[in-house]
Amino acid sequence: MMGRQKGKQGKLFYYNFCLDDKVRNNHPLRKTAAFIDFDFIYNEVSDKYGDNGNVSIPPPVILKLMLLLIFYNVRSERELMDTLPERLDWLWFLGYDLDSDIPNHSVLSKARKRWGAGVFKNLFERIVWQCVEAGLIDGKKIFMDSSLVDADASTNSVIDTKNLKHQLKKNYQQLEARLEEKAESTRASGPYSKINKRYISSTDPDAAIVRRGKAKLRYQIHRAVDGKNEIITATNVTPGDVNEAHEMTSLVDLHEELTEVTVDTIVADSKYGTIENFLACRDRDIKAHMPDLHRAKGTKQNIFSQDQFKYDPTKDVYICPIGNELKRKSLHKKRQSIDYAAPKKVCAVCELREQCTKNKAGRSIKRHLRQEELERMRQASISPVAKRDIKTRQHLMERSFARGERLGIKRARWRGSWRMEIQEYMTCAIQNIQVLISRCGPVKEAAVNAVSVKTKEVLSKIRKHHCLPCELSL
Ligand code: SF4
Repeated sequence: MMGRQKGKQGKLFYYNFCLDDKVRNNHPLRKTAAFIDFDFIYNEVSDKYGDNGNVSIPPPVILKLMLLLIFYNVRSERELMDTLPERLDWLWFLGYDLDSDIPNHSVLSKARKRWGAGVFKNLFERIVWQCVEAGLIDGKKIFMDSSLVDADASTNSVIDTKNLKHQLKKNYQQLEARLEEKAESTRASGPYSKINKRYISSTDPDAAIVRRGKAKLRYQIHRAVDGKNEIITATNVTPGDVNEAHEMTSLVDLHEELTEVTVDTIVADSKYGTIENFLACRDRDIKAHMPDLHRAKGTKQNIFSQDQFKYDPTKDVYICPIGNELKRKSLHKKRQSIDYAAPKKVCAVCELREQCTKNKAGRSIKRHLRQEELERMRQASISPVAKRDIKTRQHLMERSFARGERLGIKRARWRGSWRMEIQEYMTCAIQNIQVLISRCGPVKEAAVNAVSVKTKEVLSKIRKHHCLPCELSL
């Protein structure tokens, strides 16, 4: 017999309702709540609140709201608060009841301003350490790459700092003073092209115009990912036009500091394969599995690569493919290299000239003062192991950024580099949490709540009973 629905939601009170029963056991938020201790933030931000006045929303709740915002890629904080009463799982995660007061959307922006990016960095670092303790990180081999993020600013906001009309405006002068201040902190990490020194956004001056496809205001996120379980162990945010190669050593430092493991191998693409990076790896006894940038350039230009010129140490000359000598010409102190060149007249009449050089003055070769060490590093970078790693890197890093894209990392949610850092720390923390909860499986809440970061005993117990050996896949 067909049943007919009687009144709809007519009850005023529910006596058999329990919010906890409505959230399934394998819900990601239930697992997140079990694995992550959000209460650490009480100590972190205690000095940011006064002793009197209005009572704030508890900081762990604000941190969880931030996590929900990114985890579910909710478009805005208003939308998050509007959706909150409709989502039982979110209410449960926040420790709210059905009739709890929903905070105003502005609490999140106020908290970000009050706390700064350091708190979110701390959350990211604690989760990385938790992954270390759970045996999810090997730490010796790291993969690196960067990705561009569209800034939350229109290209219409870009002003030409050389334009007289703007310079005469008082507000422009104030802006310029502000930019000067920021320039030292935000732009110390890499060189800027002339175009970006001249054109700056008035709404988000930390972002830089990048011409990759369409010219847009962009940031760049740089990541180091551990090879074992694809945990992000280090991240940096810079304006979009910073050369990613310059971020390599800072990522290695961050990784080593967080994981307490010394890096053995770096795997990256050819943009990282600069002379400076090869030598930095050599100094730190790190294997650099990255294609040589200069070789890639030579191949692209369709001319003889430097490998085709043989160095004769007895005479200190290079022998070109046709057998002529390229003699020492000048020392370039800044580049730490010596230029070797064939006589202009010889190259001018050479039959291989088309394949050798496009320069009217003839072919020249640069030899670094540490060329032998450089050669050894370059040879190692084309070994079969290195080639396999470079191939793995492509998919591994693409996966990392693709997962970030699902969390909205393709576009900055807020303006300013410190806010972009917050977004990146939260995104990386969530990506790591996702790996942590999928690898570690079900863990009794009571046991996990006792987990405090850097408490090796408890975590090793959990690992012994629940995490390892791991057969779950992402
Ligand atoms: S162009 Fe000059 S350097 Fe190149 S092969 Fe000919 S002679 Fe040698």
